[in-house]
Amino acid sequence: MFDVIIAGCGPTGAMLAAELRLHDVRVLVLEKETEPASFVRIVGLHMRSLELMAMRGLLDRILPHGRQRPAGGFFAAIPKPVPKGLDSAYAYLLGIPQPIIERLLEEHAIELGAQVRRGCAVAGFEQDDEGVTVELADGQQLRSRYLVGCDGARSTVRKLLGVGFPGEPSRTDTLMGEMKVGVPQEEIAAKVTEISKTHQRFWLRPFGEGIYSVVVPAAAVSDRAVPPTLEDFKQQLRTIAGTDFGVHSARWLSRFGDATRLAERYRVGRVLLAGDAAHIHPPIGGQGLNLGVQDAFNLGWKLAGQIRGWAPETLLDTYQAERHPVAEDVLDNTRAQTELLSTEPGPQAVRRLLTELMDFDEVNRHLIEKITAIGIRYDFGEGPDLLGRRLRDIDVKQGHLYGLLHRGRGLLLDRTERLTAGSWSDRVDYLADPTAALDVPCVLLRPDGHVAWIGDDQQDLDDHLARWFGKPAD
Ligand SMILES: Cc1cc2nc3c(=O)[nH]c(=O)nc-3n(C[C@H](O)[C@H](O)[C@H](O)COP(=O)(O)OP(=O)(O)OC[C@H]3O[C@@H](n4cnc5c(N)ncnc54)[C@H](O)[C@@H]3O)c2cc1C
Repeated sequence: MFDVIIAGCGPTGAMLAAELRLHDVRVLVLEKETEPASFVRIVGLHMRSLELMAMRGLLDRILPHGRQRPAGGFFAAIPKPVPKGLDSAYAYLLGIPQPIIERLLEEHAIELGAQVRRGCAVAGFEQDDEGVTVELADGQQLRSRYLVGCDGARSTVRKLLGVGFPGEPSRTDTLMGEMKVGVPQEEIAAKVTEISKTHQRFWLRPFGEGIYSVVVPAAAVSDRAVPPTLEDFKQQLRTIAGTDFGVHSARWLSRFGDATRLAERYRVGRVLLAGDAAHIHPPIGGQGLNLGVQDAFNLGWKLAGQIRGWAPETLLDTYQAERHPVAEDVLDNTRAQTELLSTEPGPQAVRRLLTELMDFDEVNRHLIEKITAIGIRYDFGEGPDLLGRRLRDIDVKQGHLYGLLHRGRGLLLDRTERLTAGSWSDRVDYLADPTAALDVPCVLLRPDGHVAWIGDDQQDLDDHLARWFGKPAD
């Protein structure tokens, strides 16, 4: 008997397993593939994900494997500088191969005590009042109290759960790959600048070590079911650019569509969905992995509280209440970005207008905060603007704020030195007189770093501790 079985050991499943282990939850991750992924797709970790990694002491492990790039110019690939005054101690994009981030997250989960079984595909399940019986493809049955489907876009768990996945099917396919080129960088840059004026779904971007990320429309490449070849890329490059830039030595080639769908529900009884299993959208802006890891971060401590028995009755449902609107917003911004990549005159005109508007720093910053997820504000009811937002990493007398969140517990930052989280001290840490950088008397942080309460009154604080962390300990 496990507390939680997670289907899928992608970035979402691995992150969730680690978060649950911080609270001693017995976790089993079932992964259908026998080996980790072999493709070398570079993904971008955005500011909020970098913050999460810092909060769990993972960032130092991850940084040496990635390349830091400026935190600007993501929205619809409109080239704009980094907006001024980004409110994060980690104001950059980290380009990192997806298999490396997956491996590091899986190792982290295992170090914390999660079990990962590879070559085990979830094929069925049945839930009752006490738990879930999970059936594997080989007929074996396992039992847990909860099941979470982190099994990607074609999620078996979502389908078996019968949860609707409304949205739009793919309309436009794109080829994307990483390969070497046979001509000098300057020659490519000049040509790409010229072509980019009229073709938005086209780029050759250097990733270092002679590797280029190449994107071209799949228009003339026919069969969707057949994986693309280097020759397909060459043909498309020649059609658009008049040259194939001598591309060779592909290390990864793919074709993806722009299907956009969102699960109607994230929870049915004891079964939940997270990551691509719950939402899919075009990769523009590089948000999918980030969104999934952030789902896991939101869900982990809540599900742990449910299992440990301290969660208030409504806590687990705040997962959907908070994360569904965030995914809706990501789907919308990818829809908007996709339109802006169209070569039709209307969308091109809108793109020119938006390009002008983004010269206003506030517009540029708003879009970057949206894509990097540092602009998220959960609806915790009325209150100051900071309520429901995440607190940036700030210097505190004991070091860095995020350094105090490694254990995934709540944290009370008390400048008044009069308040206490006493009866909740098994779930919430306390820090007196933390820093002058905080311009409010006292802040209660949830384990995911979001501000759950601001004030200076003990009774009001106790009410909010109970709202998020349940009944006080005896
Ligand atoms: C071209 C491209 C570029 C991208 N670039 C970016 C980027 O820059 N930034 C970004 O944030 N995102 C990017 N993404 C999106 C990102 O790759 C996904 O959003 C991310 O992988 C989702 O993680 P996940 O763990 O939810 O799902 P997945 O990564 O799909 O993992 C699901 C796991 O579940 C396993 N599984 C499936 N079925 C079962 C089953 N029945 N039982 C057990 N295991 C099962 C699978 O084998 C897999 O390991 C990109 C996507 C594409 C296509």
